[in-house]
Amino acid sequence: MAKKIIIIGSGLAGLSAGCYAAMNGLETLIFEHHAVPGGVAASWKRGGYTIDGGIHFVAGHKEGNGMHKILAELGAADPALFADMHDYGRFIHEPAGISIDMSGDIESLANRLKSLAPADKEKINEFFRGVRAFRGHDLSTVGMGNPPELASIFSRTKEMWQMRSFLKYFTGVYAKKISDYIADVETPWLKDLFYNLFLPESPVWFPMMMLAIVADRQAGFLAKGCLPFVLEIEKHYKALGGKISYRSTVAKILVENDKAVGVRLEDGQEFKADYVISAGDGYNTVFKLLGGEYIDDIIKDRYETWPPCRPFLTISYGVNREFKNELPLNTILLKKPLMVGNEEVKGLLMRIMNYSGHFAPAGKSVFQIEVETGFDYWYNLQNTNRQSYDNEKQWLAAALLQIAEKYYPGISAQVEVTDVATPYTTWRHTLNKRASWGGWLLGADNMMEAIERSLPGLSNFYMAGHWVMGGVPGVLLSGRHAVQLICRDEKKKFTVKLPT
Ligand SMILES: Cc1cc2nc3c(=O)[nH]c(=O)nc-3n(C[C@H](O)[C@H](O)[C@H](O)COP(=O)(O)OP(=O)(O)OC[C@H]3O[C@@H](n4cnc5c(N)ncnc54)[C@H](O)[C@@H]3O)c2cc1C
Repeated sequence: MAKKIIIIGSGLAGLSAGCYAAMNGLETLIFEHHAVPGGVAASWKRGGYTIDGGIHFVAGHKEGNGMHKILAELGAADPALFADMHDYGRFIHEPAGISIDMSGDIESLANRLKSLAPADKEKINEFFRGVRAFRGHDLSTVGMGNPPELASIFSRTKEMWQMRSFLKYFTGVYAKKISDYIADVETPWLKDLFYNLFLPESPVWFPMMMLAIVADRQAGFLAKGCLPFVLEIEKHYKALGGKISYRSTVAKILVENDKAVGVRLEDGQEFKADYVISAGDGYNTVFKLLGGEYIDDIIKDRYETWPPCRPFLTISYGVNREFKNELPLNTILLKKPLMVGNEEVKGLLMRIMNYSGHFAPAGKSVFQIEVETGFDYWYNLQNTNRQSYDNEKQWLAAALLQIAEKYYPGISAQVEVTDVATPYTTWRHTLNKRASWGGWLLGADNMMEAIERSLPGLSNFYMAGHWVMGGVPGVLLSGRHAVQLICRDEKKKFTVKLPT
């Protein structure tokens, strides 16, 4: 008889785990808190527009990459799902009056930066030497081949060998936080540009790698948005025989003699299984669903000291306008900071979904502004004063549109639909701690740390998702890893069946 697996969560990690489990002859049932799959990889309809609230871009979507192989295994490699990304976006520094298109042609980008910031020529040269070192390699799944439990000296050596030409960038000055690396940059706006290439906590090598991926044309936008991408994987999961139950929140993982044996839902129903995989929020899994009984000092320290990713406030506008020659990603550092909740916001991301015709009716577009904001403010406001919460959303939608008006005169009058998603919205639909969009905020201090998928003292249980490995390739692989570990326990060969 087939062994039964219960999976908590139908985000990308849970769906991936479900597909690989079904490919390996296991009977799978996913319980999902929300009414739709995808977790933070969400998109939704508003009056003829598709609002995309998630993934900015995916690395390695093209054939020949490790990520493409995983996408093919999960039934989501159709090229129509992706639109190639040609540049890293536009960087606008209002105080300095600088606007730079971060071209995928990194030589011309480096030259432009040097011509605008000659005092920092050496730093720019050094940074772009790193970008060049990462070019020409499949970086999408590098170092993610195995879960720590299955990594051997041989597999680690093999990975090191694959990385040999850029290995030095994982050490020394390049392993420092970008915010430390730029301490000696003389040109203030260039400092801000480096600082905002990715997260300021990231090690220097990370934005180097991202620029290399874009320069190699190995990054893609989701051409139809997050949900259609997720639904391809859900379709494949169901075709493999997998079952899924929506609006089903797991309240407890059932354990007998230190072995996971099933789950109890919030409504009290209990379901038995041979294995449980949690692909939901890490904190909730470890401390609530399992009562904090299976931790050691390392896990305790991680949950006490590692911060989650800072959440976003996302305001989307359905606009009766085309943005034909505009770049899809625009980072803007404001001259006059804006108060969002109780925090001063100095920068924002303007996204224009003009890379495919799937987001809006012909001649129209979705225009979006994302700002990093605190969780507590929105959570407390929603819970204590719903009217103020709604007023604040409305006020911000208008204030941010005023900023957009400076760049796209006339846009205010062209808005047909406005949608505001706060960190509270993200938390309500995904249960991620503090509405994190990507699990842990991974910086120079913890990005290289391998997180085990099992918990000490508990058998027949594994974790997947962005609390054990981040980014879209990472979470998809983490689902695969959980099933590899179950196959190991079952003394079965892990197998992959490509969709027919
Ligand atoms: C705005 C934004 C931009 C991003 N940009 C990028 C990018 O450019 N590139 C990139 O690689 N990544 C990006 N990411 C990150 C990436 O999308 C996520 O890390 C990834 O999708 C997380 O998948 P997951 O399955 O691990 O977790 P989630 O998506 O959080 O899924 C977890 C699921 O579990 C369910 N769940 C939780 N608890 C329970 C429970 N008790 N019972 C039942 N169900 C439960 C939740 O409802 C949810 O559906 C971005 C994310 C966001 C939001």
